[in-house]
Formats: sequence, structure tokens, C-alpha cells
Amino acid sequence: MSKKFKIIILLIVVIAVGWGIGKYTSPSASESNGSNINVGDNLQGEPGNTGESDGGGITDPAVADPSDPSDTPDSSNPSEPSNPPESGGDNAGSVPDPISAEPDSITVMVNKQYGLPDNYKPTDLVYPDVRFTFKEKIEKRMMRSEAAKALEKMFAGAEEDGIYLAGVSAYRSQATQTTLYNRYVERDGEEKARTYSAVPGYSEHQTGLAIDVSGSDGKCAAESCFGGTKEAEWLAKHVGEYGFIIRYPEGKQDITGYKYEPWHIRYVGKDIATYINEKDITLEEYYDAIPVSK
Ligand SMILES: [Zn+2]
Repeated sequence: MSKKFKIIILLIVVIAVGWGIGKYTSPSASESNGSNINVGDNLQGEPGNTGESDGGGITDPAVADPSDPSDTPDSSNPSEPSNPPESGGDNAGSVPDPISAEPDSITVMVNKQYGLPDNYKPTDLVYPDVRFTFKEKIEKRMMRSEAAKALEKMFAGAEEDGIYLAGVSAYRSQATQTTLYNRYVERDGEEKARTYSAVPGYSEHQTGLAIDVSGSDGKCAAESCFGGTKEAEWLAKHVGEYGFIIRYPEGKQDITGYKYEPWHIRYVGKDIATYINEKDITLEEYYDAIPVSK
């Protein structure tokens, strides 16, 4: 009996010690377990809640932002929107800065003030499938692909109206422009040459977006006598429909820096072309740029 009793006491002690140890160790374990479980519960349970509270969070900032009085005055200060109106451009707000415009942008502005990066060459030059005044597949037959496609449509459209156009000169590399310009300077002197020929790096032909156009007979190609021909009249009336503008319109020499060139058209895309043609303005005016003086 005493042996049994001892065993019972031993058992009780063991149980008691075990319980005691358990009490020491399990608290953290059970807590962490509990917290784990809770976290798990929270994680699983909250998504729905979180969504709601996020929603609340989202709407809160929205509500809070307007009430961020310190910000609002600042952002209302850029009531500098009063500046664009001053500068007169109803287009001023949405128009990119010509200076920062990428040379590869189809809306790039190149003139006597804004030149291209040295030896810039477009990477997407192609041969438009249209008539030219010459047969050779040479540099000046090329245009950037988007402009080339538009040109093909335009020539086709002209033919539907009984007007047969021909390309005279499209893309021109800086090297070619240098050769041409030097020749003109030699012949007419620099001052005069600059009135009709671009300084190398400042020719719109180097963008691959401009082309000189004549009638299919090539008469008066890139010469002032092209003005008043039925081809010139058709161009003036219809180029915008295909995304082109007459780049150097009559009476705008003080702005563009070039005398009237009814044959020189420039691709800018339909939206801008339509805008420019409707308003009867130049690309310089579109960009609200400082007029190019001679
Ligand atoms: Zn030209």
C-alpha cells in the first residue's frame, strides 16, 4: 500500500511539476498561438473589413485633400492658368513646348531658331509609293513612314479630283543640306542665301516630314511660279485633310522666316493640321513661339 501511495504521490508531484512547467512555458506559447490565430483570423476576416476600411481610407484622403488648406491655396495660385490666356493661345495649355519636343516627334518644329540635333537622321525613312519628278531611288525621295502613308493617300485623293501631283524633294540629310547651302552662299552671298535656304541642321526637310510638291509635269517645281497653278490651289485647299500644312504661307514671312512656298508641305498629323488650317495660322503661331526674324 505504501508503495502504491508513494507512486500516487510521485504521480501527483510529476503532474504538479508538469503543470507548473506547462504554466511557465505555455503562456508564451499559447499567447503566440493565440495571437497567431488571431492574426490569421484578422487577416482572413479583415480583407472584407480592410476593403471597407480602405475604401474609407481612400475617401478620407479625398475628403482630407480638399481640406488641406495649405495645399489648396498653392494649387490655386497656379491660377497662373491666367497666364496662358494672357499669352493669347487658346491652344496654349495643351501644346507641347517646341524646344523640348523630341526631334522624332511628328509635331517637332524646325525653323531658323529651332534646329535639330547635329546630324539627326530619322530612323523610319521609307520610299513613298507616289510619283516623283525623277526616277532614281535616292535620298530626297524618302519620308518618315507615317508621313509617307499620308502622302500616298493625298496623291490618290488629288487624282480623284483630276490633279496629278509629283514629289520634288522630300528628306534631305544634313550633309546634303550643307552642300546645297554652301553652293547658294557661293552664288548669292550668305545674307541672301539665308532667305531661301536653311542653314544645315535647320532644314525642315531633314525631319523627313516635309516635301516639296509640284504638278506631274514638274513645271515650276519649288519655284514661285508654282503659286496659282491648279495643283497649288488643290494643295492649299486639301492638304489638311491628310495631315499636312502649307508650312510657309503667304504673308507670314515675318513669322516663319521664309517667303511664301506654296509647294512646301509639312506633315504634322490630322489634328494639328486641321487646327492650323482652320485658324489660318503657322506652326510657329500654333506653338505660340517668338516670330522668326528673317
Ligand atoms: Zn521645301
